[in-house]
Amino acid sequence: MTLAAVPDELLARIRRFHDHTFPGVQEQFQTLIAEGQHPTILFIGCSDSRLVPYMLTGMGPGELFLVRNVGAFVPPYDASAAIEFAVLNLKVSRIVVCGHSHCGGIRALYEEVNPQAKNLIAWLELGREAVLPVQITDEALRRTEQRAVVQQLERLMGYPMVRTQVEADQMTLHGWHYVIEDGEIHVFDVHSGQFIPASVASHSGHGPYVAHLSEPMFNEIDSAYNTHLTP
Ligand SMILES: [Zn+2]
Repeated sequence: MTLAAVPDELLARIRRFHDHTFPGVQEQFQTLIAEGQHPTILFIGCSDSRLVPYMLTGMGPGELFLVRNVGAFVPPYDASAAIEFAVLNLKVSRIVVCGHSHCGGIRALYEEVNPQAKNLIAWLELGREAVLPVQITDEALRRTEQRAVVQQLERLMGYPMVRTQVEADQMTLHGWHYVIEDGEIHVFDVHSGQFIPASVASHSGHGPYVAHLSEPMFNEIDSAYNTHLTP
């Protein structure tokens, strides 16, 4: 069979979008062009294909400014044009860092990575502090995924323009852990230091960010799980 004879499903899909989906939202996009984009949320999420930010937040075009990468990591200050642009130009008022269950990036922190993947090896260092000195188990991975989210929030606070706005109550940070199999986000609660299922959480993760709580935060996440695991 020649390549030309293979049905091109991707082409069919992009045509379907243009012919059937787009007419229904054309006006919305024209407005977004005329008035420019004004998303209020910067969503930093893992590249994992099972994490679908628009679907799980119910947002639509123009509402989320997305940064996606392996592990939902925040690069050190001076290395993220996207975060700077979102904060300084778009003036977002919320930043969400969204990790998730079964994250290959987090698992890779415990495994040997192909030495040829030099960029990946360097990138994973941004999550290294979240690693636990324990055997790799589902529970350890879950805890590491959550610890990594908290670590990224802390790194975000190293961006002067983020810190200034958070401290002035003009911006809120949201640490989320999305549990794919349950379809539920667990929201980081800075006061208790725990991730709380959205079904029982009293907020989506906003609140004053207290940097000096960072270590107890980690410990409380761990002890909460330990308590849970110990009958
Ligand atoms: Zn992931």
